[in-house]
Amino acid sequence: FAPEFEMALPILHQIEAAGFEAYFVGGSVRDYLLGLPIHDVDIATSAYPAEVKAIFDRTVDTGIQHGTVMILDHGTGYEVTTFRTETGYQDFRRPDSVTFVRSLAEDLKRRDFTINALAMRADGEIIDLFDGLADLKAQKIRAVGVADERFHEDALRMMRAVRFESQLGFDVTPTTQAAIQKHAALLAKIAVERIHVELIKLMQGQRRHNGLKTLLATGLNQYCPGLVDQTAALQRLIDLPTQRVTSESAAWLLLTATLQLTPATANQFLKQWKCANDVIADVTAGLVLLPQLIEQRAQAWNLYEAGEAVLTICLQVGQLLAPSAIMDQDWLAHYAALPIKTKRELQINGQILIQSLGIQPGPKLGQTLTQLEKLVVNGQLPNEQDRLVQWVKQNSALSD
Ligand code: ATP
Ligand code: MG
Repeated sequence: FAPEFEMALPILHQIEAAGFEAYFVGGSVRDYLLGLPIHDVDIATSAYPAEVKAIFDRTVDTGIQHGTVMILDHGTGYEVTTFRTETGYQDFRRPDSVTFVRSLAEDLKRRDFTINALAMRADGEIIDLFDGLADLKAQKIRAVGVADERFHEDALRMMRAVRFESQLGFDVTPTTQAAIQKHAALLAKIAVERIHVELIKLMQGQRRHNGLKTLLATGLNQYCPGLVDQTAALQRLIDLPTQRVTSESAAWLLLTATLQLTPATANQFLKQWKCANDVIADVTAGLVLLPQLIEQRAQAWNLYEAGEAVLTICLQVGQLLAPSAIMDQDWLAHYAALPIKTKRELQINGQILIQSLGIQPGPKLGQTLTQLEKLVVNGQLPNEQDRLVQWVKQNSALSD
């Protein structure tokens, strides 16, 4: 057992002692069998939510209408979900109703892919009703049941398929791929925020090209904002070296740079994808700095304005887009050598200038401070208060 399961075993035992079934299910079982790190341990049970709550002292109703109760155990929360079936799916995304059931088989049947439909009992036995173990071994993403129906029920599963291809380095089976191709247009029914989550996991996966190839081959990209008819750009992305990008901002920078967006058009693009403002700020700043780095014309001021976080994502993306150009200079060393990293480190401010020179606040003052900031960043003036005040006196920039 992995330590994550070991810690959660008492919960399975307690549910079993109360006369119900309980299993580890979903991504944790899959990742454990693959030897990958386990994120969250999900537990499925035949006990109904009220029955689960009666067994444990400390529970939280995190998703009670879907049958999920969180059990608090020594500072960790475990989601325990009642076996359920889903019916309806009139809108191609959410089931019209969920029904709690007592049968594990019914619960596993509603899951998306065979590798995600494995369950593990407290004694370690794996319940594998859909040949998920064989697919794990063969590295296949295969829909549970009739692929055609499963994507029709819930179109997000198509994006999950390509995301898992990238994260795990697996391939979708031909039947599953054909079903995605057939139903790609249903992705239009899914909220962009949910597609965003899957696309960004795909972009950060270890086999990005795997997922991207299927995204393009099935035409899923035609239902993604800003990726419509971007075959050439997506193909360039597929053909890049395989190193990973390791943050959401780096992933968006890689995508927008490959699409050859400007900071302004990228801003639009990222807004359509409902990206967070800090991500948009980093990516648009990255699109300014990245060409400067690749063309080896970035100056101290450019590095300073971008800041370390933006420089870091640019270096990661630059290593993919133009490895030799980007590695020609030690940009992190250039950055580290900057005399100051932020305005706050400047040994002067408006207050000091007003006091020592008796000048008035106003736009001129701000301009002078920016001038001083540039001179210090460029190493043309030492970051010493006396010298900075003296420079202002001599250049009398404020006297008119
Ligand atoms: P991750 O490592 O990203 O958490 P995961 O497989 O655990 O991967 P979750 O979104 O946490 O994904 O879902 C947990 C489980 O619930 C899945 O393994 C799968 O069995 C089931 N599941 C999740 N989303 C769907 C869906 N859209 N359709 C069917 N089953 C789903
Ligand atoms: Mg999960």
